[in-house]
Amino acid sequence: IRLAHIGHRMTPRPLVLCGPSGVGKSTLQKKLLEEFGPHFGFSVSHTTRSPREGEEHGKHYYFVTRQEMQEAIDKGEFIEHAEYSGNLYGTSKKAVHNVLGNGRICILDIDTQGVMQVKKTDLQAQFVFIRPPSIEDLVKRLQARGTETEESLNKRLTTAKKELEYGAVKGNFDKVIINDNVEEAYQELRDFMLPAVNEIKDD
Ligand code: 5GP
Repeated sequence: IRLAHIGHRMTPRPLVLCGPSGVGKSTLQKKLLEEFGPHFGFSVSHTTRSPREGEEHGKHYYFVTRQEMQEAIDKGEFIEHAEYSGNLYGTSKKAVHNVLGNGRICILDIDTQGVMQVKKTDLQAQFVFIRPPSIEDLVKRLQARGTETEESLNKRLTTAKKELEYGAVKGNFDKVIINDNVEEAYQELRDFMLPAVNEIKDD
């Protein structure tokens, strides 16, 4: 997948947001889209998990069967894919191209397995890890969200511990943000992305 240039413009570097389930990635990314609307676009992933209440096909995810997804993976349609908590998730080449083709910064909300794969591409992404202040805080958030069964919640917490270890390794991420207070966390993310946003505006 060639991403150095599209047309005459430099292709903006994608933003990869990673962090354990429930840490508040979606809220932070929504805030970026609210403030900088046309400069960002969300890469809509595919998943085999069932939609949660309020989730729309084609907006939050493309909800597909495992067979559909596996076939698309086998055809080479994905930039990265991973098994997470019993389901397949993946970023299609098309999802990223849809955003980059419009000259926008593409936001990818993916897990650590996805991060490792995106690092090997020529996307030249910027990697941001979002941490909770503590595991206890993460448990509380996941419970308050009320989207998971007890089994799913436990699976996600086990995975979260591994992800937090990966996120703590120096050099794995360009920026690590602790999401204790969402406004403060957003300010940090905003400050980190502002140079990239200004570069697009000047183009
Ligand atoms: P959820 O089921 O809570 O929406 O997502 C579970 C985990 O899968 C989250 O950590 C999320 O970042 C990750 N995820 C979502 N889409 C993708 C994707 O396309 N690729 C990968 N590798 N992970 C994804």
